[in-house]
Amino acid sequence: MSDHKVYPVSAEWAASAWADEAKYNEMYAESVNNPDKFWGEQARATIDWIKPFHQVKNTSFEPGNVSIKWFEDGTLNVAANCLDRHLATRGDQTAIIWEGDDPSSDEHISYRDLYERVGKFANALKAQGVKKGDVATLYMPMIPEAAVAMLACARIGAVHSIVFGGFSPDALGVRVEESGSSIIITSDEGRRGGRRVPLKKNVDAAIAGMDNPASVKSVVVVKCTGGDVAWDTDRDHWYHELVAGQSVDCPAEEMGAEDPLFILYTSGSTGKPKGLEHTTGGYIVYAAMTHKYVFDYKDGDVYWCTADVGWVTGHSYIVYGPLANGGTTVMFEGVPTYPDASRFGRVIEKHKVNQFYTAPTAIRALMQKGDDVLGDSDLSSLKLLGSVGEPINPEAWNWYNDIMGKGECPVVDTWWQTETGGIMIVPLPGATAAKPGSASRPFFGVQPALVDNEGNLIEGSGDGNLVILDGWPAIARSCWGDPARYEETYFSTFKGMYFTGDGARRDDDGYYWITGRVDDVINVSGHRMGTAEVESSLVAHAAVAEAAVVGYPHAIKGQGIYVYVTLQAGVEATDELRKALVGHVRTDIGPIASPDLIQWAPGLPKTRSGKIMRRILRKIAANEHDQLGDTSTLADPAVVDDLVANRMNR
Ligand code: ATP
Ligand code: MG
Repeated sequence: MSDHKVYPVSAEWAASAWADEAKYNEMYAESVNNPDKFWGEQARATIDWIKPFHQVKNTSFEPGNVSIKWFEDGTLNVAANCLDRHLATRGDQTAIIWEGDDPSSDEHISYRDLYERVGKFANALKAQGVKKGDVATLYMPMIPEAAVAMLACARIGAVHSIVFGGFSPDALGVRVEESGSSIIITSDEGRRGGRRVPLKKNVDAAIAGMDNPASVKSVVVVKCTGGDVAWDTDRDHWYHELVAGQSVDCPAEEMGAEDPLFILYTSGSTGKPKGLEHTTGGYIVYAAMTHKYVFDYKDGDVYWCTADVGWVTGHSYIVYGPLANGGTTVMFEGVPTYPDASRFGRVIEKHKVNQFYTAPTAIRALMQKGDDVLGDSDLSSLKLLGSVGEPINPEAWNWYNDIMGKGECPVVDTWWQTETGGIMIVPLPGATAAKPGSASRPFFGVQPALVDNEGNLIEGSGDGNLVILDGWPAIARSCWGDPARYEETYFSTFKGMYFTGDGARRDDDGYYWITGRVDDVINVSGHRMGTAEVESSLVAHAAVAEAAVVGYPHAIKGQGIYVYVTLQAGVEATDELRKALVGHVRTDIGPIASPDLIQWAPGLPKTRSGKIMRRILRKIAANEHDQLGDTSTLADPAVVDDLVANRMNR
C-alpha cells in the first residue's frame, strides 16, 4: 500500500494523557501476566460494588467447556454507577447534551435530572409488571428517553434489547420474538434529516406479523412529534402518563456481576443476526476504562460519539462508558447531512466538543463534498478524533486528520465488535504512534494473535485469521437462548481461541491491520487478498468516492476481482477511467490485485450502520441474485435492483 507514514505521539500528549508509552507497556504487561491483580485493582478503582468480589477472572475457551465469568461473587448496579454515585459531586453537571435533528432544538440534562427521570421511569416499568431478568425491547429514536429507558432497565435488573429505529417491522418482529420480550418501548415517530420515521406504526406492524402477537403485553410510547398513531387501549400506554405521579426514588436492584445487562443483535452484515448477551460487572468495568483511556477522557470534557444507541457503539460509548466516568456525552438525533453537510462542524462548534467519534462511512461521505464541507465552523475545541465500524482507508484517515483535526488531534482507529463489548485494538493517544489504516495495538488484557487456516499460530509479521487467545471482562457470554450457537460461532473454528471472523496483517512493529472479514477474502491464483486493501487503493484515486470489492468464480484464477465503484460527483464513467483504475491498483498493490471487472455503482448496499454488505455484492457478481438472503437490514434495498440490472458480463 502506498501510505506508510507514521504519526508519532506528540510530547504534549505523552505528558498529559492517562497513559504514555512506558505506562501502556507496563500496564499491558501486568494485564496479561497478572490479570487477577490488574483487573481486580481496575474494577475496584473504576466501579462501586455493593458486595465486593473475591474471584476476578474465571474463563475458559476450551471446546465443550467455554465458560466466561468475571468478578462473579461481586454485586453492583450499573445505573447506580452511572448516576447515583455522581450526585454528591456532580449533580448539577451536564450528563447528556441532547442535540435534536432540528438544529434549533437541544437540551442539557444534569446528572440529578437524569437520575430523577430514570427513577420515575424505572418505577413506571415496575408498575407495568417488568421484573428483574425480563427482556424489554427498545425501538427508539435518539432522544433522551432512549438513555433513560436503558438506565431504568439496568436499575431494576431488566435486560434491554435495543433494535435500531431504522429497522423494518419484520426485522423488529423477529428480534422481539427471539428475545422473548413482552414489552416494547418506542415513540410515536422519530425525526431524521427533516423526515419522520413511523416508529409506532412499525411496532404495530411488527406485532401483527408475529406468530404470537399476544406475547407483547405492553407498548410504551414516548410522544415525540405528536404525529397520529393507532392505539390499542389494552396494550398501548403513553410514556408521559406512566411516569406522571411516579416517585423519583427507585432502589437500584442488587445485581450479580454475571447477571445479564443487555442483549444486542449484531448489525447483520453477514447473515442471520445473533443476539449477543452482555453481563453486568465485566462489561461496565471495561466500558468505563476503555472510554477513559482511548478517548483520554478528562473531567469537564465534552465528548461526542455519533453512533446510534441501536449499535453496540452507542451502548458502550454514548451511554454506559461516559456516564460511568461522570462524563458529559452528546446524543445526536440527526444525520450528518441535515440541514446540510456542515452539520458535524456546527455541532462541534456549538457544544465545544473535545472528543469526536464517528465511522469511516460518515468521513467518506463528507470528504466527497470537498475540504470546505464543514463551512466556517470553529473546530478548535477538538482534541481527539476516533473511528469505528470498518477499516478506515488511509485516504479517509488523512482527510480526518488534516481537515477535521487540523493535524493536531490524535486519530484513534478503534477495532472491536458487538461481541467484544468494548474497544479491543487501538492506538492509545498518548502512547502509540499512529499509522493511517492500522488499528495498531491491543488494549489492556487483550491478547490478539494470527492463525493460519489450520489454527497454527503465526509468529512475527504476517497475514492470517484474527483470534483472541484469552478472556477479557466485556466479552459476550452467550447468544441469547442459544449457548450452543455461541460456542459454535466463536470457539469451534480454532480450538481454544475466540475467532473474530476478521482477517488481519501484523507488521514488523507488531501493529495490527484489519484486512476485512475472512468471508470476504479473495483468493486469486492462490494469493489471498483482503478486500480492504484493494478498496483502499481504489478510494485513493481522485475519481473514486467509494468502492467495494468481491471475488467471483473465474475459470483460470479460481477467483477474479469484481469491483463496484461509486464515482465522485461530476466524474464521468468512461472506459478510459476503467483502464486508469485498473492501472492504478496494479501499480499501487501489484498485478495480482488488478480488478477483472469494474461496475459503476450509483450506490452500494449497506447496513443501517453504514457497512457495505459484500455478501449481497458477491451474489450479484456470481449471477446468483435470486439468492440474496436476508436483506431486511439494508438501508436502501433499491440500490440492489440497479446493481443487478447493470451487472458486468464476463
Ligand atoms: P454481523 O456480525 O451480523 O455480520 P457486524 O460484524 O457488521 O455484523 P458489528 O459487531 O457491529 O457487526 O461490527 C464488527 C465488525 O466491524 C468487525 O468484526 C469488523 O469487521 C468491523 N470493524 C469494526 N471496527 C473496525 C475497525 N476499526 N477497523 C476494521 N474493521 C472494523
Ligand atoms: Mg460480526
